[in-house]
Amino acid sequence: MGTFEAMSQEGSHEQVLFCEDKRAGLKAIIAIHDTTLGPALGGTRMWPYNNEEEALRDVLRLSRGMTYKASAAGLNLGGGKAVILGDPRSDKSEAMFRVFGRFIESLNGRYITAEDVGTTVHDMEYIFMETKYVTGVAPAHGGSGDPSPVTAFGVYMGLKASAKATFGSESVDGKRVAVQGLGNVGKNLVRHLVEDGAQVTVTDIDEARCEALREEYGVKVVGVDAIYDVDCDVFSPNALGAVLNDTTIPRLKAKVVCGGANNQLAEERHAKALGDRGILYAPDYVVNAGGLINVYVEMEGYVRERALRMAEGIYANTERVINISREQGVTTAQAADRFAEERIELIGQIKKGFFGGI
Ligand code: NAD
Repeated sequence: MGTFEAMSQEGSHEQVLFCEDKRAGLKAIIAIHDTTLGPALGGTRMWPYNNEEEALRDVLRLSRGMTYKASAAGLNLGGGKAVILGDPRSDKSEAMFRVFGRFIESLNGRYITAEDVGTTVHDMEYIFMETKYVTGVAPAHGGSGDPSPVTAFGVYMGLKASAKATFGSESVDGKRVAVQGLGNVGKNLVRHLVEDGAQVTVTDIDEARCEALREEYGVKVVGVDAIYDVDCDVFSPNALGAVLNDTTIPRLKAKVVCGGANNQLAEERHAKALGDRGILYAPDYVVNAGGLINVYVEMEGYVRERALRMAEGIYANTERVINISREQGVTTAQAADRFAEERIELIGQIKKGFFGGI
């Protein structure tokens, strides 16, 4: 399959840059999906892909996803992503990330990177030596640090909007919430829920994390697989992708699914499967945009309060998506895409108008 063919199959990308430096052992692909709203922002993933085509497919799919996420969050950002082909455990070096930083610099701000699966804040520091088009650097360099508290707060906002649409009240007081995954996002979400009076049941493959939250908040702990059978009002996935699938959906007792994990639906059709069972699915990229909002605020000069205030907007965005879904008779996942596309279309028109375009 040719690159142009893959680009149009995966959603009409603007630009794909293949980067290689043999001395530094770098092989990377940067994909810029759409810059209508602003520079393309998205993390750099490092992964031992089996072949080039797999890496290209991944970067094209992920960069398109970033366009939708940024648009739905109301940010002036486009969608981009980068992948480095290699094993993050053994193939990293200072030279690799610095030369990669120079490739990013060559795009002159059309693409801005951040950390992602397989890369760390430390790797970003090497990139930062060669280009300013990197965000999510360490607080010591003026960065915003861990985005997870803002992500968790945004998920909590999305959950409240979903509760309002489903139960008639945004308060989760007395609501039974099952939380899967107690990492950086999950544990912060549990805190918000408990503070708001929810009855929380949790699970994690890491038993120590469950124990810590049981001690701190008195939450109930269940086994990793049992979380799908918990009698609850809200199911909140905060661990892995593809947890909403043919096996798990029939087991869910919740009326709302809302969590921070990326790519929760195993396949698109599972959004309909949830809707058919009367379960409101709060689209993952709408409710977990707090991390992206956090790095966006970092680009403007980081203030945590501002990031949290912007993440509060996730409540209204979720509400709007639910309304589109109800008005237009489409799944909430389709409604989220329409919401994002509408903004790109509208703002794109404004930019082309009187003010002379970009
Ligand atoms: P994390 O690695 O800190 O936490 C993930 C947790 O899930 C860990 O505690 C892990 O033990 C647990 N886990 C793994 N497999 C599990 C399983 N089968 N059942 C139950 N628990 C399991 O990650 P995080 O930063 O908290 O992110 C969680 C999810 O949210 C990921 O999908 C991530 O991509 C997404 N996300 C995170 C952010 C952010 O700001 N951190 C932003 C957007 C999206």
